[in-house]
Amino acid sequence: ILEVEHICKSFEHTEVLKDISFSLEKGQVVSIIGSSGSGKTTLLRCLNFLERPDKGILRVNGEVLFDGDDPLTMQESEIRKKRLHFGLVFQSFNLFPQYTAMENVMLAKELLAKQQPDYKAKKKEIHEEIEEQAKSLLNQMGLSDRRNNYPHQLSGGQCQRVAIARALALQPDILCFDEPTSALDPELTGEVLRVIRELADQNTTMIIVTHEMAFARDVANQVIFMDDGYILEQGDPQQVFEHPKEERTRQFLSRFT
Ligand code: ATP
Repeated sequence: ILEVEHICKSFEHTEVLKDISFSLEKGQVVSIIGSSGSGKTTLLRCLNFLERPDKGILRVNGEVLFDGDDPLTMQESEIRKKRLHFGLVFQSFNLFPQYTAMENVMLAKELLAKQQPDYKAKKKEIHEEIEEQAKSLLNQMGLSDRRNNYPHQLSGGQCQRVAIARALALQPDILCFDEPTSALDPELTGEVLRVIRELADQNTTMIIVTHEMAFARDVANQVIFMDDGYILEQGDPQQVFEHPKEERTRQFLSRFT
């Protein structure tokens, strides 16, 4: 479903991503691990076009979304559409504080619907459909009794589950998580990891950047270890965690045991 080929990204004179290549099959989960500053967040931001790669090629379902050698694929007007292939869940939730859980989940879909030519004629039906979908997603996240709460009335774990429902509302091909539990108290981490685990069981294609090593190992079909802007090692979880080929991977993992 996803092919990443030779992606490079620099900020001023610092090369943050160096020749990143990997691929992901539909329904699979890849965990990305590595030290702070190794480029994990920048990689996710490049995939979501929050940053523009300097070089390389991105393909989703065979369609070239970005080709550093082809300026046509880099046009701003095209980028919005391309971004819809990816859903992104941030460390810090980024919910709109002035909207309820339901409104947060519905907002992007409503905005997209408004751009459709038949929106005015079908406004009521479309709104009801979006509302039903949001209810169902919040139910799936175990938040059916929290629909009308505002973010300040919710715990961090509940906010993060609303953020996951919001990302799912646009039915992305690939759901990306950037350290989804780092901002949470330890006792709230489990409830968020549980819903991500359930999504994996339902074959949701996901890329998960995480410092939760047990979870990274347990949830993924593939693990990528990043170090200093490179993919230093990638493979199935058992291989990377139990038989790392690289000394740097061994050193990194030894900090968690
Ligand atoms: P962490 O686990 O701490 O989030 P990370 O592996 O996700 O780390 P990145 O956030 O991708 O790492 O950062 C990689 C490097 O790129 C860091 O040295 C960071 O300072 C630098 N960097 C990231 N964004 C920018 C930016 N917008 N401008 C300049 N440098 C940046």
